[in-house]
Amino acid sequence: MPALRLSPSSSITLGLVLLVLVLYAFLDVVVGVVPNEERVLKEVRDQVSSNLALELGALLRVGDTTTLRQVMRDIQQHDDEIISIGIRDSKGKLIAQSGMHWKLWKPPPDDRSTLDHVQVPLYDRDNKPWVRVEVNFRPHHGGSMLELVQRPSVAMPVGLLLGGSFVFYFYLRRVLQHLDPSKVIPGRVSTALDTLTEGVIIFDPRGRIMLVNESIRTLHPEAESIRVGQKSEQLGWLCADYRKSGELPPWQRVLRNRKKITGERMIIPQGDGKLKKFIVNASPIHDGDQKVRGCLVTFQDVTRQEAIMAKLRESQQRIATQNIALQRLANYDQLTQLLNRRAFYERGEAMFARHRQSRRPLAFIMCDIDHFKSVNDNYGHPVGDEAIRAVTSLLRENVRKEDLIGRYGGEEFCILVPDLTTAEVARFAERLRATIEQKAGPAITSVPGLKITSSFGVSILTSEIETLDEFIECGDRALYLSKKNGRNVVSFYQPEEKAAAPA
Ligand code: GH3
Ligand code: MG
Ligand code: MG
Repeated sequence: MPALRLSPSSSITLGLVLLVLVLYAFLDVVVGVVPNEERVLKEVRDQVSSNLALELGALLRVGDTTTLRQVMRDIQQHDDEIISIGIRDSKGKLIAQSGMHWKLWKPPPDDRSTLDHVQVPLYDRDNKPWVRVEVNFRPHHGGSMLELVQRPSVAMPVGLLLGGSFVFYFYLRRVLQHLDPSKVIPGRVSTALDTLTEGVIIFDPRGRIMLVNESIRTLHPEAESIRVGQKSEQLGWLCADYRKSGELPPWQRVLRNRKKITGERMIIPQGDGKLKKFIVNASPIHDGDQKVRGCLVTFQDVTRQEAIMAKLRESQQRIATQNIALQRLANYDQLTQLLNRRAFYERGEAMFARHRQSRRPLAFIMCDIDHFKSVNDNYGHPVGDEAIRAVTSLLRENVRKEDLIGRYGGEEFCILVPDLTTAEVARFAERLRATIEQKAGPAITSVPGLKITSSFGVSILTSEIETLDEFIECGDRALYLSKKNGRNVVSFYQPEEKAAAPA
């Protein structure tokens, strides 16, 4: 059977009520300060009965039985306390009565008067028992529950028990609520809590604040006025974030679900348009029986860190963008947006190595605009630039996505062409040459009728070629042949250095 557990307020209330009852009993029994209602009543009834007996005795002596009966009837009828009156002679015979005394009178045990049955003996001149006046009083405790409860000897302790419990309990609840529990917490502990940079609040199981540390003041300007005993709902600024979302604050969730919450983000508007951001951790506080006795909540101010992090992210983003731009600048030629020679080499090396190792076909094409110097000389540098761009566009449009193209120098372009047969490479180079011849000149609208052609040198990867440099060198030699052979042609590198156009 589970042990009955009382709250501190209930335990103290019970103790106080028991103490008051013990004190009452002591005053009643030992000191006798509390009036004994039965004793007083007995004295009164005895007095009333003996006065009555003397009066009736006097009437009996003068033999005025009519008046005697009349008086007995009147007294019995007018006094609610008296049920019946009887006068009995020394032989026990009832000689006068009122109120069905013969039936209602019950002789008291031991022939001694009781509280409800009082008998007063009268004596004759020789001091011998003459008659006995019997007064039958209404039973003091008529047996009705109400009468019993109304007795001071019952009403007082019961009243103290019930009233005291009620009054003490609510008084204690109120006192304990306003009593600062932090005073109960050892000084070392609260000093330790005060040294924390994190704000700390301890809530009781009903969600009332039991303890706050110094750092809690930094949560909000109004945090200065937090009082022990307050509920968090009374602190509008603390719950503002949750009112908006309709969610319960973490400490209320912990008290409800008994599970701790860690790393929850919380925003506290400061009232001046600024926001403070916190990481909130809330843990239930258990007693020995694993009952939740409260909740410990910590608030870590991360406003500064988050601002720094945001700036850091922003600058990282900026650096990343700049890096991309720099990389573009470093790898791509500005005029044509083709890979520059260095970047072409870098990527070309990898392609060259792969194909050389796997013995898959690879071709290199070098392209050079014919008599370009004269374009510059005749029409100016800007037209020269335009011509370079026009040739670039045509090359770009015609290469496949797996081909690697770059600007090798001023008006020289280089292309690595993977996985084509020699015949396919020859057709490809020829198509490029023909396209430039047909379209490059007409693309320069500022110089009508301008003719632009280019010469091509092609090398095919063989086992004798060991480096990309050698491969390019071979293409360059083939290009030289094209120049030598009148330009606007495609030449293939021949190991014997015997240049020939492909069949
Ligand atoms: P060839 O047919 O033998 O190739 O004769 P060429 O005149 O084309 O050859 P050369 O190498 O003598 O001339 C190339 C010229 O290209 C020299 C240089 O001024 C010019 N050039 C190089 N880069 C640029 C550029 O970016 N823009 C312009 N407009 N001209 C450039
Ligand atoms: Mg040239
Ligand atoms: Mg040149």
